[in-house]
Amino acid sequence: MSYTVLARRYRSRTFDEVVGQGAAAQTLKNAIATDRVAHAYLFTGTRGVGKTTMARILAKALNCQAFDEPTTQPCCKCESCKAINEGEDMDVLEIDGASHTGVDHIRELRQNAIYRPARARFKIYIIDEVHMLSPSAFNALLKTLEEPPEHVKFIMATTEPNKVPATIQSRCQRFDFRNIRTEEIAAQLQKILAEEQMEAEEQLVRRVAHLANGSMRDGLSLLDQLLSMAEEKLTAGLLAELLGTPRSEHIVELAESIGQGDAGKVIRQVDAALEEGLASEVLAEALQEHFRDLMVMRNCGPDTELVETNESGLRQRMTEQAEMFDDATLVYNITVMEELRRSIRASGSGRALLEAALVRLTASERFSDTKVLLEQMQGYLSQGEGKDLSAGPRERPRQVSSRDYAAEGGGSRLSAAGAAKSTEKPQPAQESQESQESQESKGFLKPPQTLNQTYIREHWKEILSELSRRGMKHLEAYLQPAQPTEWNEGVLKLGFLGHDGMGLFGR
Ligand SMILES: [Zn+2]
Repeated sequence: MSYTVLARRYRSRTFDEVVGQGAAAQTLKNAIATDRVAHAYLFTGTRGVGKTTMARILAKALNCQAFDEPTTQPCCKCESCKAINEGEDMDVLEIDGASHTGVDHIRELRQNAIYRPARARFKIYIIDEVHMLSPSAFNALLKTLEEPPEHVKFIMATTEPNKVPATIQSRCQRFDFRNIRTEEIAAQLQKILAEEQMEAEEQLVRRVAHLANGSMRDGLSLLDQLLSMAEEKLTAGLLAELLGTPRSEHIVELAESIGQGDAGKVIRQVDAALEEGLASEVLAEALQEHFRDLMVMRNCGPDTELVETNESGLRQRMTEQAEMFDDATLVYNITVMEELRRSIRASGSGRALLEAALVRLTASERFSDTKVLLEQMQGYLSQGEGKDLSAGPRERPRQVSSRDYAAEGGGSRLSAAGAAKSTEKPQPAQESQESQESQESKGFLKPPQTLNQTYIREHWKEILSELSRRGMKHLEAYLQPAQPTEWNEGVLKLGFLGHDGMGLFGR
């Protein structure tokens, strides 16, 4: 016996079975119940959300022979219903707009439409991908829509409603089919698996529903492939094998190495992943999603439903990992991964690009968090000749939430008022005096008691190299393109190349 794909076997047969399009189903039922069925409908929505399924249900409702008039509960057993289910009814004609773009097909349709239906109440034309019709075909269709015979109904479906002429749209009742929610797809998959008597890990079902991205058809076709591979139980490992996607643990480990700033480990892990046959782009995508999950967990709490993982062990690790990064770094990492995916697609030299991008991320924590950098700089300046703030170049900056950032003006100005509050108090004068002497003997800078603009301007280069000498090489690198533009009451404004200046730290 040949295998019928799930999407066909489990296609909804009645309005009440429809998944995820309850509003449209209810409105159509109301129209039938109150005898207000329109002459023409336009169903819009992305692929696999149930447009054709709904068109067939509507056709059955209008033509079911078990009733004397249109019904909201077609029997699905009469000759008409059965034929419509198969897409082979003589009165319900399905036309694929994509392969019948020419005007001749529509002319034929118009001539044919004059004749009454063979056995049912209505002659129904279901035109799929109607936006593909040629302009002359649309014109011919418009004439029929303007003066439709009483016994004719049109149901048109399209993924691109903006390509359907306004003149056509204005003569149709339009229904926008929404993308089906992940939970709705997951519930339907569970139901089907139960009927198929196949066991599946809950984690896998959620993952498949997520990958379906709003399309029931895509979800079912993925499930079809999994069923053809599985022997006893559907597992997340099977899905990883099918898609060539990395296992979640591997991604968590990779992200951990990035968080630790261990470039060597990152490169070795990338090598291992590529050895397993993973594509660079797939790895980049998985990492991007992972960073997104961490960002969501940081902001919505570790138990948020917006992150899809049901393995409690994994969630625990991700919760810990979310604390390793701050929001600014995660946002930065997500953007870098997006850029990376684009350049891998464009260049083909995926591996080098992937490694370069990930090494960049290992350093990102030191480069991306402007606020931490500014904080260090402020500490240095406000302490004058105080002690070193940074123990060494590898020291991890304190985590600061990017929520503290307050954007001003055109967005290129950052205020670090929050940083000001948290810095250490200047050293008492005596101690400061003491260290000044010892530092001076080592040839360090000796700023005046009260800092002023002229001093900062004149000594800018030295201030920068001083940072480097104190183990803040990354801060020096970051501030290299900047010039001090204003010093006012403890706030230093820096001008960066191409920017109008950057509000810096306070007292
Ligand atoms: Zn019927």
